[in-house]
Amino acid sequence: MLEQKINEILGDEDPSGFGTGWWSGVLSAFFGLLAFGAVVCLHFPQLLSSPELRTHYPMPLVRMLIQAVIVAAIILGVASAFLRKKKILGLTGMLFALAATLLGGASVPINETLHDGLAIGLDWFLLDMLLMTLIFSPIEVLWPAYPKQSVFRPEWLLDVVYFMSSHLPLRITTFLILLPATQLTSVLGNAGLQEAMGSLPWLVQFFLAVLVADLAEYWIHRALHVVPWLWRFHAIHHSSKSLDWIAGSRAHIVDDILIRGLMLIPMMFVFSQDIIVAYLLFVTIHATWEHTNFGPSIKWLEPYFIVPRFHHWHHTSQKESIDKNFAVHFPWIDKLFGTYYYPEGTWPDTYGLHNEPIPAGFLGQTLYPFTRGKAV
Ligand SMILES: [Zn+2]
Ligand SMILES: [Zn+2]
Repeated sequence: MLEQKINEILGDEDPSGFGTGWWSGVLSAFFGLLAFGAVVCLHFPQLLSSPELRTHYPMPLVRMLIQAVIVAAIILGVASAFLRKKKILGLTGMLFALAATLLGGASVPINETLHDGLAIGLDWFLLDMLLMTLIFSPIEVLWPAYPKQSVFRPEWLLDVVYFMSSHLPLRITTFLILLPATQLTSVLGNAGLQEAMGSLPWLVQFFLAVLVADLAEYWIHRALHVVPWLWRFHAIHHSSKSLDWIAGSRAHIVDDILIRGLMLIPMMFVFSQDIIVAYLLFVTIHATWEHTNFGPSIKWLEPYFIVPRFHHWHHTSQKESIDKNFAVHFPWIDKLFGTYYYPEGTWPDTYGLHNEPIPAGFLGQTLYPFTRGKAV
């Protein structure tokens, strides 16, 4: 278990339940690292902040957030140090928070004029990591579908690496994702269609956008399963042996670019940019939620809107549900195309690939689709 490994590395093998200072220590270290990373971003905004995002940041709010994260790291660090015999976790959090403060904290001024260019999306990684952790980790700890599964389950760190790998090269991936749709719409674009759509109420446009996107995603996703050379990319996403929110980010970069890039083609023909941006935010949250280790559900909603149990059946290695449940938002799309599998009330027993060994690490998995024959 990674939890034990971290404990061994830190020389801290004390119990990790509530009230032992484990959680406050882990959170302190997490917030400390976030704060440190954010202050480094303020120092090197040209290199470390995404050009797509930096112009939209409400800076007073971002600075308040950084300050709050620094304070949280210190308070939780102190709490952990009080509760726990081994102080290493709390001290790590406090040291990073202190380093962030010494580097100027939330008030580091941005003096340079920022210009467009290649950048590392460290800001996007830190912000999304914070938001997703705040939204999904508490519900997984409080209401898990699999109570025995730890937050720090095996391969947890591998999925953090995947989360990083899809956030840091934001500039390049955005360019590649937008490329097919922008090229096609510049040649075949029909302004009349977009205008007609724009005259509808915002909520209607948004619902139609989710529908168009999901129909596209259904067929792209199904192709990723049935075309053998495409499956080798998508197999990575299916290799997680247990699911939670961070497992959802395990995907080969080519898989990510293919799904998003092809889905945007119909979207950009029909919808305006603000509807597409709203949809991209929505899909980030909905698709992440579908992977969570979260038990509760709203029974009457299940036939209309995908809840975690539905997508968990897509990830099982049990034969009866392989190549089922391809939709991302609406389960009735699977019903319509004959790929629906949703046994009453039960969750899968096993997850992962069925009889298909793939390499264990990030590099091996990234290279896997380009290698021939069976992997070790
Ligand atoms: Zn799949
Ligand atoms: Zn998935």
